[in-house]
Amino acid sequence: MSLAADKAKEKLVRLGQKVAEAGLVIGTWGNLSYRVAKDNVVVITPSGLDYHRMSTRDMVVIGMDGRVVEGDRKPSTELALHLAVYRTRPDVQCVIHTHSPYAGAMAVNRMPIPPILEDAVAMIRGSVPVTEYAVSGSRRLAELAAQALGRVNAVLLANHGVVGVGRTPEDAFQVCQQVERAAQVYILARAIGTPVALTDQEVARLLEYYTKEYGQKEGAEG
Ligand SMILES: [Zn+2]
Repeated sequence: MSLAADKAKEKLVRLGQKVAEAGLVIGTWGNLSYRVAKDNVVVITPSGLDYHRMSTRDMVVIGMDGRVVEGDRKPSTELALHLAVYRTRPDVQCVIHTHSPYAGAMAVNRMPIPPILEDAVAMIRGSVPVTEYAVSGSRRLAELAAQALGRVNAVLLANHGVVGVGRTPEDAFQVCQQVERAAQVYILARAIGTPVALTDQEVARLLEYYTKEYGQKEGAEG
């Protein structure tokens, strides 16, 4: 395999550990993948292995048609979902599927997460939609998730968990963390009052600001 694919495997191993340490997944649940555009392949975590026991040798390289190109392990059971996202979102390089608890509570209630926190909105690029229910690993779930994702960077899977995507593994990881935090704040805010979501116009203005102004410039927070 190419050097790019080997690097992708290393990135996924490290990212898997970070996702587990952040409490976004438990045990062998959840899964991650990384697109190597140059080779037109996706590197994905194996099915049923603990994140702290995974090494680069356990990663599975898959062609965009879903066939295994390299690796002895069985790929994640959510492979179809990852491929569906890459097919509909050429901008996405990394897909992370988590089972974090507060986002899980929203997914169980089948409630979208409204745009309530600036940094979460900036990373997610809007509110977090929720799919209809479809069983784990099914083609239907893959279709629903890719469809619901549209142009935002995260989606809740009904009665299941979260899919977060990004242009880089770091972005996808931050998206999953922001989804969990926004869900937690939303639930807390509802417990003590009535959360006020940003309007579509405010979201549009915020996204414009973050795209143009945020970063190493004076006046930007964080
Ligand atoms: Zn899952």
